Amino acid sequence: PPEDMSKPTIFDKIISGDIPANVLFEDDQCMAFSDVNPQAPTHFLVIPKRRISQLSKAEEDDKALLGHLMYTAQAVAREQGIADDGFRVVINDGPNGCQSVYHIHLHVIGGKQLSWPPG
Ligand code: 5GP
Repeated sequence: PPEDMSKPTIFDKIISGDIPANVLFEDDQCMAFSDVNPQAPTHFLVIPKRRISQLSKAEEDDKALLGHLMYTAQAVAREQGIADDGFRVVINDGPNGCQSVYHIHLHVIGGKQLSWPPG
Protein backbone atom coordinates (compact mmCIF):
# COMPACT_ATOMS: atom_id res chain seq x y z
CA PRO A 1 0.00 0.00 0.00
CA PRO A 2 1.17 3.58 -0.56
CA GLU A 3 1.29 4.24 3.19
CA ASP A 4 3.72 1.31 3.79
CA MET A 5 5.63 2.56 6.85
CA SER A 6 8.63 0.33 6.10
CA LYS A 7 9.46 2.39 3.02
CA PRO A 8 11.04 5.79 3.57
CA THR A 9 9.71 8.70 1.55
CA ILE A 10 11.54 11.55 -0.11
CA PHE A 11 10.81 13.65 2.99
CA ASP A 12 12.96 11.37 5.17
CA LYS A 13 15.89 12.32 2.93
CA ILE A 14 15.06 16.00 3.35
CA ILE A 15 14.93 15.56 7.16
CA SER A 16 18.29 13.77 7.16
CA GLY A 17 19.82 16.32 4.78
CA ASP A 18 20.57 13.67 2.15
CA ILE A 19 18.71 15.72 -0.43
CA PRO A 20 18.72 19.51 -0.30
CA ALA A 21 15.71 21.68 0.41
CA ASN A 22 15.14 25.38 0.96
CA VAL A 23 14.53 25.09 4.70
CA LEU A 24 12.53 27.99 6.13
CA PHE A 25 12.18 26.72 9.71
CA GLU A 26 13.27 23.73 11.75
CA ASP A 27 12.95 22.65 15.37
CA ASP A 28 13.15 19.34 17.21
CA GLN A 29 9.69 18.26 16.02
CA CYS A 30 9.17 19.64 12.54
CA MET A 31 10.55 21.27 9.40
CA ALA A 32 9.17 23.79 6.91
CA PHE A 33 10.67 23.98 3.41
CA SER A 34 9.72 25.35 0.01
CA ASP A 35 7.71 23.08 -2.27
CA VAL A 36 9.80 22.09 -5.30
CA ASN A 37 6.79 22.64 -7.60
CA PRO A 38 5.15 25.79 -6.19
CA GLN A 39 1.47 26.43 -6.95
CA ALA A 40 1.62 30.09 -5.87
CA PRO A 41 4.29 32.75 -5.23
CA THR A 42 4.71 31.29 -1.73
CA HIS A 43 4.24 27.54 -1.29
CA PHE A 44 5.93 25.65 1.49
CA LEU A 45 5.37 22.39 3.33
CA VAL A 46 5.37 21.74 7.07
CA ILE A 47 6.23 18.17 8.06
CA PRO A 48 6.82 16.35 11.34
CA LYS A 49 10.22 14.71 11.82
CA ARG A 50 8.42 11.71 13.33
CA ARG A 51 6.49 10.27 10.46
CA ILE A 52 2.71 10.02 10.36
CA SER A 53 1.82 8.62 6.94
CA GLN A 54 -1.41 10.56 6.44
CA LEU A 55 -3.98 12.54 8.40
CA SER A 56 -6.49 9.69 8.41
CA LYS A 57 -3.95 7.47 10.20
CA ALA A 58 -3.37 9.94 13.03
CA GLU A 59 -3.68 8.59 16.55
CA GLU A 60 -4.61 10.17 19.87
CA ASP A 61 -0.92 10.47 20.76
CA ASP A 62 -0.36 12.59 17.64
CA LYS A 63 -2.65 15.43 18.71
CA ALA A 64 0.05 17.66 20.19
CA LEU A 65 2.32 17.17 17.18
CA LEU A 66 -0.54 17.97 14.77
CA GLY A 67 -1.19 21.16 16.73
CA HIS A 68 2.48 22.04 16.55
CA LEU A 69 2.44 21.64 12.76
CA MET A 70 -0.60 23.93 12.48
CA TYR A 71 0.95 26.54 14.75
CA THR A 72 4.23 26.39 12.80
CA ALA A 73 2.35 26.83 9.51
CA GLN A 74 1.01 30.22 10.56
CA ALA A 75 4.26 31.30 12.24
CA VAL A 76 6.26 30.64 9.08
CA ALA A 77 3.51 32.23 6.96
CA ARG A 78 3.92 35.39 9.03
CA GLU A 79 7.71 35.24 8.69
CA GLN A 80 7.35 34.84 4.93
CA GLY A 81 5.12 37.91 4.75
CA ILE A 82 1.97 36.26 3.39
CA ALA A 83 -0.17 36.32 6.54
CA ASP A 84 -1.45 39.89 6.39
CA ASP A 85 -3.27 39.24 3.12
CA GLY A 86 -4.28 35.68 4.01
CA PHE A 87 -3.22 32.27 2.82
CA ARG A 88 -4.36 28.66 2.63
CA VAL A 89 -3.38 25.51 4.54
CA VAL A 90 -4.15 22.17 2.89
CA ILE A 91 -3.61 18.54 3.82
CA ASN A 92 -4.16 16.12 0.94
CA ASP A 93 -5.23 12.72 2.26
CA GLY A 94 -5.17 9.46 0.33
CA PRO A 95 -5.99 8.78 -3.33
CA ASN A 96 -9.11 10.96 -3.54
CA GLY A 97 -7.24 13.78 -1.82
CA CYS A 98 -4.37 13.52 -4.37
CA GLN A 99 -1.79 12.70 -1.69
CA SER A 100 1.46 11.68 -3.39
CA VAL A 101 3.97 11.60 -0.50
CA TYR A 102 2.88 9.41 2.40
CA HIS A 103 4.55 11.46 5.12
CA ILE A 104 1.96 13.91 6.40
CA HIS A 105 2.52 17.51 5.30
CA LEU A 106 0.68 20.80 5.49
CA HIS A 107 0.78 22.79 2.26
CA VAL A 108 0.91 26.52 2.99
CA ILE A 109 0.01 28.51 -0.11
CA GLY A 110 -0.23 32.26 -0.54
CA GLY A 111 1.16 35.44 -1.99
CA LYS A 112 -1.70 35.86 -4.47
CA GLN A 113 -5.51 35.80 -4.61
CA LEU A 114 -6.49 32.12 -4.56
CA SER A 115 -9.70 30.65 -5.90
CA TRP A 116 -12.22 28.39 -4.18
CA PRO A 117 -13.52 25.71 -4.42
CA PRO A 118 -10.71 23.45 -5.65
CA GLY A 119 -11.42 20.96 -8.43
P1 5GP B 1 0.89 15.84 -1.95
O1 5GP B 1 0.36 15.66 -3.32
O2 5GP B 1 1.41 14.54 -1.38
O3 5GP B 1 -0.04 16.54 -1.03
O4 5GP B 1 2.09 16.85 -2.10
C1 5GP B 1 3.44 16.48 -2.16
C2 5GP B 1 4.20 17.75 -2.44
O5 5GP B 1 5.59 17.50 -2.25
C3 5GP B 1 4.04 18.28 -3.87
O6 5GP B 1 3.53 19.60 -3.84
C4 5GP B 1 5.45 18.19 -4.45
O7 5GP B 1 5.74 19.27 -5.31
C5 5GP B 1 6.31 18.20 -3.21
N1 5GP B 1 7.57 17.50 -3.37
C6 5GP B 1 7.74 16.25 -3.86
N2 5GP B 1 9.04 15.92 -3.86
C7 5GP B 1 9.71 16.98 -3.34
C8 5GP B 1 11.10 17.23 -3.09
O8 5GP B 1 11.98 16.39 -3.33
N3 5GP B 1 11.41 18.43 -2.56
C9 5GP B 1 10.46 19.37 -2.26
N4 5GP B 1 10.89 20.52 -1.74
N5 5GP B 1 9.15 19.17 -2.49
C10 5GP B 1 8.78 17.99 -3.03
